Amino acid sequence: MANPLYDRLFGKHAGKTTPFLILPDGTVVTHADFLARAAQFAHVLTGLGLAPGDRLAAQVEKSPEALALYAACAQAGVVFLPLNTGYTVDELTYFIDNSGARLVVCDGAKAAGLAPVAERLGAMIETLNADATGSLMDKAEGQPDSFDTVDRDAEDLAAFLYTSGTTGRSKGAMLTQKNLLSNSETLAELWRFTADDVLLHALPIFHTHGLFVATNITLIAGGALIFLPRFDVQEMLRLMPQATAMMGVPTFYTRLLDEDGFTRDLAQGMRLFVSGSAPLLAETHVRFEERTGHRILERYGMTETNMNTSNPYDGERRAGTVGFPLPGVDLKITGSEGEELPQGEVGLIEVRGPNVFKGYWQMPEKTREELREDGFFLTGDLGMVDEDGYVHIVGRNKDLIISGGYNIYPKEIEMVLDDQPGVQESAVIGVPHADFGETVLGLIVPEPGATPDLDAIAAAAGATLARFKHPRKLLVIDELPRNTMGKVQKNILRDAYKDTFAPA
Ligand code: ATP
Ligand code: MG
Repeated sequence: MANPLYDRLFGKHAGKTTPFLILPDGTVVTHADFLARAAQFAHVLTGLGLAPGDRLAAQVEKSPEALALYAACAQAGVVFLPLNTGYTVDELTYFIDNSGARLVVCDGAKAAGLAPVAERLGAMIETLNADATGSLMDKAEGQPDSFDTVDRDAEDLAAFLYTSGTTGRSKGAMLTQKNLLSNSETLAELWRFTADDVLLHALPIFHTHGLFVATNITLIAGGALIFLPRFDVQEMLRLMPQATAMMGVPTFYTRLLDEDGFTRDLAQGMRLFVSGSAPLLAETHVRFEERTGHRILERYGMTETNMNTSNPYDGERRAGTVGFPLPGVDLKITGSEGEELPQGEVGLIEVRGPNVFKGYWQMPEKTREELREDGFFLTGDLGMVDEDGYVHIVGRNKDLIISGGYNIYPKEIEMVLDDQPGVQESAVIGVPHADFGETVLGLIVPEPGATPDLDAIAAAAGATLARFKHPRKLLVIDELPRNTMGKVQKNILRDAYKDTFAPA
């Protein structure tokens, strides 16, 4: 018997004294040290009565121990449920309740607030790091540093991951061992990861990007992570010379480009920069290449499917696209009746493959709506495939504006607005309008110190875009609301501006 997730990510490194985690202060955690800690945690978890299939909800700051919990869960067959460290007690109540977690693990500072919630919901609660009441770390001391790995099947649940909540309430995606392994293995190969790779890791480990994409790929190859607790641009510059690769969200790249210290020399030892989780502006591509000589590799994934597409490692990394479907992933573009659309047409992006999740926990209807009988998952994104097979993401289906019967894709208008003088970025949303159902509102964030000329911008948009796409109004705002993964929350904007054209 076996446990594919544990065996392929962790078990195969047993006894290796090579570095796995390199902390900003230079401390090195070897693969062997990491696995010993994970085994001790596995003993503690089973000692607390956790059985295979039980859920462990963890809201903990990023640390080697927090990551060791993931390995411990894999080894003990426990379903790992990492939670955004930004969530408040109220928000956590929903996740603990909804997931039916048996054990809640938190940092010492959160324990007092969460204990009554856990008690009310019938969950145990433990703190991770040393504190007065005896933490998991304390309990791990003195435990054996090896553990008999629990047998699991590739179809067994490995993790519950809540979606980012960009378009509404987060949904708990049920992920099997197979889901987590399938395209991590493919990507390690496509992106040429080896044991010599050192990945600059500044992403959170409660999200699919930092936990499953970046960490799993590195583990499969046996490489190391420079493990930053959070994104800090100065720390990134300081540590980059020790790294060979980086994975980030687009804001990581724009922040690096804002620094004069980010030079071609500094990036010389790097072989790969990957971007995902949100669209990378074409302008960022160009500036990055001019500055460093490297072309960012953009890819596309989501909580429910791990990764779907990637630009090629060799070959053209095409700006404004997310590349090709990964081997083993079927991707198609469909119309509103579910019919497959021809190449070049914009429609719903559907994907199928071993990466696609089992469904949303306790949301059978939502699962039925989005996970079709033939195995295709309706991603909620709109896109098209160009003549060379590159996938373009046009935006989210929920952000589509339907005005006077016309479909309008906000991204097309945002690209025009973003190009205008004095504009740092923009968001285009649909707001209710008595004549058209919805109409186009453009929200503009100025560059620092700039006062954009809205009339000139409206004229420029008017000259480039068909009449029905012209923003009916442009407004200047200070910043766009973003969640912790850097995604623009258009539902917040739609709500804030819904009365813009309401009759007085
Ligand atoms: P929720 O489903 O709760 O509304 P979310 O969709 O933002 O939140 P995630 O699973 O974290 O939650 O994000 C996946 C989404 O991120 C994709 O569906 C897509 O809209 C977007 N995305 C990911 N990578 C890219 C990319 N390279 N370009 C454009 N969009 C991307
Ligand atoms: Mg989503």
